[in-house]
Order: sequence, then structure tokens, then C-alpha cells
Amino acid sequence: MKKLMAANWKMFKTWDEARATAQELVDLAAAKLPGDREVLVFPQFTALKGVADVFQGIDGFSVGGQDYYIKEEGAYTGEISPKMLESVGAVYGLTGHSERRHVLGEDDEYIGAKTSYGLESGLKVVFCIGEKIEDRKAGRVEEVLEHQIRVGLKNVPINIDPENLSIAYEPVWAIGTGEVAGPEEILEAHAFTRKILISIFGEKANEMRVLYGGSVKPANCAEIIALDNVDGVLVGGASLEGESFSQIVLA
Ligand code: PEP
Repeated sequence: MKKLMAANWKMFKTWDEARATAQELVDLAAAKLPGDREVLVFPQFTALKGVADVFQGIDGFSVGGQDYYIKEEGAYTGEISPKMLESVGAVYGLTGHSERRHVLGEDDEYIGAKTSYGLESGLKVVFCIGEKIEDRKAGRVEEVLEHQIRVGLKNVPINIDPENLSIAYEPVWAIGTGEVAGPEEILEAHAFTRKILISIFGEKANEMRVLYGGSVKPANCAEIIALDNVDGVLVGGASLEGESFSQIVLA
């Protein structure tokens, strides 16, 4: 199973800026990328094709859409479909990100509909989960994660190819705060996530990637990626510069 080193560029970068960063990343990391690593960038929609073009023909580099709607086409002003994302080179889609849950108001049911629709439409999906700080303080981490996983994946067929679904554990209190979860917290949350995935999908869940996200940086990535059940990272702030994301990718 290849480790998935994913960048979430959120609502940053114009077309030119995104292409320049993508090119810098390729220049710094492509030739040295170990065979057991895969690089994925989620640019915002207007830069998706630009970044896909930069990655064209480069082994182990791909792009994904940060969001999509649950229909192929229609009168849904402002929305975009998996088919449209795929038409400009997207291979992946992202669902359940904490900013979509807690800033844009998406609930577990809708995130679940999006996750299964994206998979049905041919995207590989990175599905995010994670507790808020008040859940952790109240000892509710497992309860929150289990609920998010069970509802978010309830419509995903049991016979799914495990390569097509990755889960990103991203504690909300660690996203964009500089406060990275400690090794024990990551180990526990990832082992628990794996246990729930096995209870749903059986042994093949061992082949699903469970990523960690939340203030990953060049200085902490190697330690995180070496932990049990950590099959990659999802990186926001530190992925915005080619130099720093290339160090993460190669850590
Ligand atoms: C994210 O946006 O998914 C994220 C993990 O952000 P950051 O790395 O900045 O915490």
C-alpha cells in the first residue's frame, strides 16, 4: 500500500500561483519520490486543470476536487459534479473536511451521500473525520469518530476496491492551529478507525489508507508517517509552498 501524501490548498492560489507551486513541487520531489509514496494535490476548482497539466505524465502525482455535488448535472447553480472534475483531470474527491462540516454546515448524512456518490461516479475519495476539542475533553473521541464513520460510509458498497477509499483523521483542534496531535493520540484514533472500518468492510479494510491531518510540517512529518496505521498525511498550511510540501512528501 502506497503512502498518500495529500495537500489541501483550500481557497488559496490563482491559476498562475497554483501552477508555479505545482511546478516547484515537481522540480523538487518528482525525481526523488520513493516508489511507495503517492502525491495528491487538492487545488481549488479554477486551478485544477492547470495543476493537472503540470502533473501530466509524472508518475505518482495526481489532483483531486476539494468538493462536489451529488448530481451529474442540472439546475444547481454554483455546484460542480464528479464528472466535471474528472473531465479536467481529477482522480480524487475530498469529503467531510472539518471546514465543510463546521464552517459550511454539512452534516453526516450529506457527507455520506457525497462520499458514496463520488465513489459511484469513479472518483477515489478521501473522507475526513475528526473530533472537536470539547469532544476530546469530554472523553467522546471514539463516540464521535464512530458516528462519523458509520453514517458517512453507510451507503458505500461492501465490495468497494479498498484503494478507492481513504479516511483522513483530522482532529478539528489541530487543523491550522500549529497544535499537532501527539503520537499516542494519533495511534489511538487510527487504531480505533481501523477497527470500525474492519467491522464494516472486513479484512480488506486493512488495505484502506488512514491518513493523519492537523498541523503536519516538514519537522514533524517523518515521526507521524512512521506510526502504526498511518498511511499518509493530509496537509493544509504547510502544503502551500512547494519547498515545504516537497520536504513533507519526501520525509
Ligand atoms: C487541512 O486543511 O486538512 C489541514 C490539515 O490543515 P493544516 O495542515 O493547516 O492543519
